[in-house]
Amino acid sequence: MPLTTESISFSYPRGPRVLNAVTCAIEPARVTAIVGPNGAGKSTLIRLLAGLRHTDSGSVRIDDRALSSLRPRDRAQRIAFLEQRPSLAFDFSVLRVVSFGAFTGERDCALISEALARFELEDIRDQPFASLSVGQQQRCAFARAWVQIAGRDNAYLLADEPCSAMDPRHTIQTMKSMRELAAAGLGIGVVIHDLNIACRFADRAIVLNQHGRLAAQGTVEQAMTPEILAQVFEVQIESHQIPGHAPVLVIDDQ
Ligand code: ADP
Ligand code: MG
Repeated sequence: MPLTTESISFSYPRGPRVLNAVTCAIEPARVTAIVGPNGAGKSTLIRLLAGLRHTDSGSVRIDDRALSSLRPRDRAQRIAFLEQRPSLAFDFSVLRVVSFGAFTGERDCALISEALARFELEDIRDQPFASLSVGQQQRCAFARAWVQIAGRDNAYLLADEPCSAMDPRHTIQTMKSMRELAAAGLGIGVVIHDLNIACRFADRAIVLNQHGRLAAQGTVEQAMTPEILAQVFEVQIESHQIPGHAPVLVIDDQ
């Protein structure tokens, strides 16, 4: 069963309408990219999907029941959420931050060690989170979410620009981890600005326009055509084929 929004609208207090009647789905076993221009409402949409804010109208549903009806602990076992800017109220070590993804029991001890190795955090495990570069903080935050969600059934990972400050190798490593989680059945929703990374690693896409409306949704091939993207982002886009590779989008201003 997907994680869905049904005609949701949302405004911040005393602000204008940010999302307008958006109906979309994060499917199990798929990586869904959420793309759109700055201020389109991507972060707002993904926070609503994570249950961190309430809609003005319309509903967010999981297993076809209201997400708001889940108790916080149950929700945390179903949905891991990664903020756009990882931050902490207190300055914990990398190891402590990754451990925050754990619940209890031996499963989680093994997962914490695996996450430190997988995301190359072993050498910096005792460093304070605040002392890390933003890209390292993002790897640490992703490892925390990975511990929270890996191996679970009917679970989702929602990540808001998780690789925006990562170098290319770690970006690819992180995107491949999302594909692995999807191959194991998890539903992944990820806000991505790099359209080429989105085309290469996502199966599906939700495209928002600058008015907070759904411009397109479907497979990447259906929803991220050069025509749709050119219109939404107000740029020129050409798609080039490289044998054995996802199409490469060449982007220029108008
Ligand atoms: P995106 O992630 O697509 O760049 P956001 O969802 O962050 O867009 O923001 C959409 C709109 O909502 C923007 O116009 C932004 O200024 C506004 N907004 C975002 N967060 C807040 C907030 N906490 N309070 C008031 N307005 C906000
Ligand atoms: Mg955002």
